Amino acid sequence: MDNREFEARLAEGARAMGLSLTAGIEERLWRLKEELLRWNARVNLTAITAPEEVLEKHFLDSLAVLPEVAGAASLLDLGAGAGFPGLPLKLALPMLEVTLVDAVAKKVGFLKHAIATLGLAPGARALHLRAEGRPDKEGLPRAEVVISRALMEFGAWATLGESYLAPGGRLVAMLGQPLPREEAEHLAAASGLALIGAREYRLPFSGASRQVLVAARPATA
Ligand code: SAH
Repeated sequence: MDNREFEARLAEGARAMGLSLTAGIEERLWRLKEELLRWNARVNLTAITAPEEVLEKHFLDSLAVLPEVAGAASLLDLGAGAGFPGLPLKLALPMLEVTLVDAVAKKVGFLKHAIATLGLAPGARALHLRAEGRPDKEGLPRAEVVISRALMEFGAWATLGESYLAPGGRLVAMLGQPLPREEAEHLAAASGLALIGAREYRLPFSGASRQVLVAARPATA
């Protein structure tokens, strides 16, 4: 797939998902794909190596949560791995302050490289650490959106992610295995959070199903 085909396919997928993308994002995602696969040949970053799959399972899936992220000023992506969903979201929302965190040094090495190559600093940064729920000690910001994809099961994520929420912020979980709403409510409540959103969607080409859950601290009366 050359860059033209790749960019057209991205635009087609985004349209099918009802996403409206900023002009020029396709070309920057092509560059990100090039860097990701170039690095991946030496350093194991992702098991997904076919361009078509990177396009759908990494890029479009990351962009699928634009409705849940839009309007926020800051985003913390914990366990970002090779940068998903944080890097595509940063490309789509240039004003968003993005912090990407991963416990594995080589992944953070790639994240720093991608941020530099795509010219995303200083509004995006990558930090190498294992998040344990102590933002002050860890030097991590509290963010309006605290997000993870495929990091841990939702109950554990609610407990961990809650510590990083700015006042009025929301916790977002991107899951490959949808959870029944009641169960998600229950797990959120166990960490003092209220489930404020649960949405299932399908990836446009494979038809694979995904779920995004959103939780927040209940408003105090
Ligand atoms: N979000 C990415 C990667 C998912 S794999 C994606 O969906 O493609 C989970 C990643 O989380 C791994 O890279 C692992 O190193 C990292 N990780 C797991 N626990 C972590 C923690 N407590 N703090 C930071 N990173 C963590």
